Amino acid sequence: MNNFSDITGHADIIKSLNESMEKNRVSHAYIFSGKKGSGKKMTANAFAKALQCENGIGQSCGICKSCHSFDSGNNPDVYYVYPSKTKTLSVDDIREQIIERVKTKQYSFRYKIFIVDEADKMTPQAQNALLKTLEEPPEYVIIILIAENAESFLPTVLSRCVVLRFMPIGNDDIKRFLIEKKNMSEADAAFYAEYSMGSIGNALLLSEDENFSAMRHELYEKLISIPKMSLTSVMAMGRSLDKFKDYSELTDMIFMWYRDVFAAKYFDDDRYIIEKDMKDDIFSLAAKYSFESLEKITDAVKKAKKYLSFNTNFQLAMEILFMEIKES
Ligand SMILES: [Zn+2]
Repeated sequence: MNNFSDITGHADIIKSLNESMEKNRVSHAYIFSGKKGSGKKMTANAFAKALQCENGIGQSCGICKSCHSFDSGNNPDVYYVYPSKTKTLSVDDIREQIIERVKTKQYSFRYKIFIVDEADKMTPQAQNALLKTLEEPPEYVIIILIAENAESFLPTVLSRCVVLRFMPIGNDDIKRFLIEKKNMSEADAAFYAEYSMGSIGNALLLSEDENFSAMRHELYEKLISIPKMSLTSVMAMGRSLDKFKDYSELTDMIFMWYRDVFAAKYFDDDRYIIEKDMKDDIFSLAAKYSFESLEKITDAVKKAKKYLSFNTNFQLAMEILFMEIKES
């Protein structure tokens, strides 16, 4: 738990953190920047654990008092900083949770570490308040700011931090992770890897969400039945999708489905099919549609997604989309 070896991808970042510890050149302030679910928080935890480990240099041993307390979530010298009242991290939050605590030395271990998740929620005033600590940090203090976008920090804050940028993880890496660490089947892993678009956090979240899997199958059953149904029932079916709250997720799923049908038709084998668990249905649809119809359908899905991003009536947009699919 909380080890560098548990992290998928980001080999360069992990190597540079390991080396900074081995060479005793650890910085006092870091910004871990990158898309949600790219592994920033896991890396921050692994880094904090290794920094505090009583035995390890560059890695955590997993057996010392510090490692045990870290894994049980009770390391007395590691602080997680959160917004206390509002959605933003205010001056008061930074003052109470960091600045006041920085004044006293650590209790038991080597450093006093502050991990600020969603640090891009710091107001400019809060960032200014933190600046003094960043300029003259006590030698025992390390601050890790986690943010989706490093550009949201004031230049004065940015220039005092080591900025590490987390790139999206490749689909193959995510797939391997899901198979090896989560015992997922090849077909499921391929689906979730592709669907999560470089976010391992998202892949995990979706694969553990039973609701998502049920919804996905329900949606695909509907798409499969469209050619057999009347136009009016197809439109009614489109309207009935309103329980799929996240329109972006819904349209992405519909898009992926027809992309698979296209791939099945084009290559005439299942190499490029993402949703392999449903390949029989995909092949039977591929036989029913022409390339031209599939192109019309994917255009209609893109159009629906765009309309919905402008807050168009959801039911209406889906009714039109399903009608267009039926008529393609
Ligand atoms: Zn240890």
